[in-house]
Amino acid sequence: MGDFSIEDTCILLDASRSMMRRDFKPSRLVVALKTIKKFVEQKIAIDPKDRTCLATYGSKTQKICDFTNDPATMIESFRNIEISGQGEIEEGFAFAIQQLVKEIRKIGGKVPRIFVVTDERRIDMGDRMDKIGKLAKGLGIFIDVAQIGNPKKETYLKQLSHLTSGEYAYFNNEKALGNAGTGYASKKQSQGESYVAKIEKKPPPLVSEVAVELRKPNLGELKDLMRGIKIEKCQICYQEKCPKCSAHFFSCGRYCPSCGRPIHMHCATMWAQKSPETAENVFRCPNCYFLLRVPKSVVKLMNQNAEPVTNNTPAQEKTTKMMRVPDATIANIDESCGGCHNIFTKDQPVFRCQACGVHYHEKCLEEMYKTIHACRSCGMKIV
Ligand SMILES: [Zn+2]
Ligand SMILES: [Zn+2]
Ligand SMILES: [Zn+2]
Ligand SMILES: [Zn+2]
Ligand SMILES: [Zn+2]
Repeated sequence: MGDFSIEDTCILLDASRSMMRRDFKPSRLVVALKTIKKFVEQKIAIDPKDRTCLATYGSKTQKICDFTNDPATMIESFRNIEISGQGEIEEGFAFAIQQLVKEIRKIGGKVPRIFVVTDERRIDMGDRMDKIGKLAKGLGIFIDVAQIGNPKKETYLKQLSHLTSGEYAYFNNEKALGNAGTGYASKKQSQGESYVAKIEKKPPPLVSEVAVELRKPNLGELKDLMRGIKIEKCQICYQEKCPKCSAHFFSCGRYCPSCGRPIHMHCATMWAQKSPETAENVFRCPNCYFLLRVPKSVVKLMNQNAEPVTNNTPAQEKTTKMMRVPDATIANIDESCGGCHNIFTKDQPVFRCQACGVHYHEKCLEEMYKTIHACRSCGMKIV
């Protein structure tokens, strides 16, 4: 292929609940996967050295398949995709950028690309996405977008693909979308100074904006952790129980979304506060150096209860109350349930954890109370 460089593409798939809609037959998700399959197969047909990886974003960002040039490995990984939440595309981009930068540093000489398949149609995405977009541009990352459905207006994603010399198109039906992947696979002509030369001259400013939130255990993992089938030890404190809140891993435990290593949320928070070069809620994974983030509310809470932890402090003393949210304000909650990750509707009572502010459906709260007696988000005992 002449002068074209080898390409690394991070495929970003929207895994929010809207992807289950059936206006595209059999569903948006199935057609999106079809197009990803086409993309990967065509990529290898053009250049067997090109590699792709797959990440999804929904209520959490997750690496589904590591970089590979084997389409079968990629397709096999589709079964691990989980659909949940409203889809924070900013988190997805943050993940993809870090993943690409890591690979280039390791091997070098590649053209970095992001291929997004999404039904996201926001026009303005705010400050964080703006900074992430400019960073991608600065790093020479091409962003291609396959938009599911006609957004009618010029979306932010369209601007972003233009900004990064990528391609943008929307698709109105399953046939068009399902076949689109092939067209996106052609090689990019890298412009001007190479990406590697840029990185070697000056390391990219991996600002706090690209820090990705720690991943909560999913339902399958939770079950195994609670039954003791799976025992995780935090990579900071090397213990199963969190030294700060005394909760078990299924309650305080999280995973690095890149390398999958276990880490307590509170250990991560202390680690973040100790890392001088980043914001107080941002830190690097001790294993893979990914930039990670803990909720600011947890940092605040830790600062408030900054007394030393001793073995004489039983877990029972760290308590929280679950407060009922007035029905009239349920519609204003713009986050999903900390238990099931679904949204809140008026037909189910909603409760809010007084300690960490996370909301739960009444049913999810009951379930959580029966199993762990504590808030799944902050690990505080419920009284
Ligand atoms: Zn720990
Ligand atoms: Zn903890
Ligand atoms: Zn990691
Ligand atoms: Zn719920
Ligand atoms: Zn809580």
